[in-house]
Amino acid sequence: MSGAPIAFAGSPLDRADHVRADPERLAGLMNWRARLLRMEGLAPLLGDDGGLVWGTLADAPPDAELVFLGLKDGKGCFAAVPAEGDNAPAYAIRDVWNMLGALSPGDLATYGGARSLVDWHARHRFCAKCGQPTALAKGGWQRNCGACGAQHFPRTDPVTIMLVEHADKLLLGRGLGWSEGRYSALAGFVEPGESIEEAVAREVLEETGVVAGSVQYIASQPWPFPSQLMLGCHAMASGEELTIDTTELADAHWFTRAEVEHAMAGGADPAFLPPPQTAIAHFLLNWWIAR
Ligand SMILES: [Zn+2]
Repeated sequence: MSGAPIAFAGSPLDRADHVRADPERLAGLMNWRARLLRMEGLAPLLGDDGGLVWGTLADAPPDAELVFLGLKDGKGCFAAVPAEGDNAPAYAIRDVWNMLGALSPGDLATYGGARSLVDWHARHRFCAKCGQPTALAKGGWQRNCGACGAQHFPRTDPVTIMLVEHADKLLLGRGLGWSEGRYSALAGFVEPGESIEEAVAREVLEETGVVAGSVQYIASQPWPFPSQLMLGCHAMASGEELTIDTTELADAHWFTRAEVEHAMAGGADPAFLPPPQTAIAHFLLNWWIAR
């Protein structure tokens, strides 16, 4: 098993759910000791030491909504909802990616959770049921509609991501628009009415024509661009013949164990460029090698 933690997981903050539902306690935490996670829009602000920067609540714009991230060292930790939510795909924000590469695992998890939450607020200011404005509630873990009474909750969208194996080879895919040579685990959203196992089998069949089963859950990762929960799985294929859906994938390919090991070890002239360490696919490939 890889020794590296799963990126964006393992936040050092105590989520303190009991505080969210207690308006008096929450208000009592919003004092001069409270800490505000400094962000520019949805991007993190980094200090001279390369870590996240915490200010006081006075650093937030006067009209900004504040979300309660949790407790750290007895202090309330908050973040301000930006004027605008995410409107660019994750791969378009290269400057943010460069910053994230420098963060410690704890800071990465703190930022990821905060980003996902404030982004949801910025994009859900109106009720999905009646269209009227909604108001932040429960420290930012809910929004309520004053007109129709509907309650809205921050969303987390399940996505399966899977290593498909046959005869000690792995099936990896290359997404549309990815840099040349980059391959990773196949992935796809779980649809309503579907189990994880069914989603894995459907996505693999749709994207590559391969029939897969014996799905095993391995590990998960919160992915804050904008709000996915990646469900890392392993599945066994019944054959290797490929019928690639070119509207979803640029390519798919079976790689031998030696090719996977060489690529993940950073060897010269690898058969493919492996996924970055921030991706759970990286963790899954190391899991498969070590198994
Ligand atoms: Zn409403």
